[in-house]
Amino acid sequence: LTDADARPLPTGAPGVFCYPEAFEQLLAELRTAIAALAADEPFQRLAVPPVIARSTLERAGYVASFPQLVGTVHSYAGTPREWAALAPLVVTGGDWHAHQRIGDLVLLPAACYPVYASLAGRELTSPVRFAVEASCFRQEVTSETGRLRSFRMAELVTAGDEAHCLAWRDRWLDRVGDWLTGCSLKPVVEVADDPFFGATAKLYQAAQRAQQLKYELRVELADGLVQAVASANVHRDHFGEAFGFTSAGAPGQTACTAFGLERIALALLHAHGPHPRRWPAAVRAAVGAPAGADR
Ligand code: 5GP
Ligand code: ZN
Repeated sequence: LTDADARPLPTGAPGVFCYPEAFEQLLAELRTAIAALAADEPFQRLAVPPVIARSTLERAGYVASFPQLVGTVHSYAGTPREWAALAPLVVTGGDWHAHQRIGDLVLLPAACYPVYASLAGRELTSPVRFAVEASCFRQEVTSETGRLRSFRMAELVTAGDEAHCLAWRDRWLDRVGDWLTGCSLKPVVEVADDPFFGATAKLYQAAQRAQQLKYELRVELADGLVQAVASANVHRDHFGEAFGFTSAGAPGQTACTAFGLERIALALLHAHGPHPRRWPAAVRAAVGAPAGADR
């Protein structure tokens, strides 16, 4: 492993890669660095599975806003007799999935959704904080470096009142920017919007920008290609309304800071070369490598 090439390997499926051990080592170091950034706040750590109840995602408004990105999970719902007729089509490349039916789960598109759902019915007397990570899926139609359909997202999530969420988001935006700068990545911070779908998209995106709900930290991932490696968001009372949790009697407010782990790693590999063990010690330390890990 000492000097291994960390670059992801294509699988033949656009936006889906396999990751060598040296890449995973880098991701582990990023997790350590993020945990160190978060050390002075009492985050409750949660491991999140890569699927979520379809009803939760519907309730969160994700399906209505981003239907083009949702990966649904279907399974066979026919009889053995019907399957006997379909089975030969698997071999011939035919429509063997004619009887597949959508299930109660969908693929998770962002790590923070299960957190909001878990707060249902609560009155938050003080802010709550969660640190989560999940494999996420989005049905991206383009594939360029860093635009993945399956990717890992680490998130810091909080819920409380408006003043807390706004201050928290702003603090994290600064903190993540400083960390990325310390990794020599030169992040650009910009007001951003989400890829809303359909006739109302422009309206929602304009409102999201006007209210400065979303900031992205953008970094070069390949020559001439800049992408968001992290985002810092407030959602006002959107999830408090959707899931029925409150703060001081009003719908609770939420904020999240999301780290695209593959994208950060890809940006580092682009900036410092494909062999992490050859990076300058200062970069390794900033990224989160334990002291002395270089040699
Ligand atoms: P957001 O919820 O802000 O869209 O996504 C949070 C973070 O997840 C982004 O800043 C980015 O780092 C990562 N992310 C979002 N979409 C993709 C994607 O298609 N591919 C990869 N590799 N990361 C993504
Ligand atoms: Zn989030």
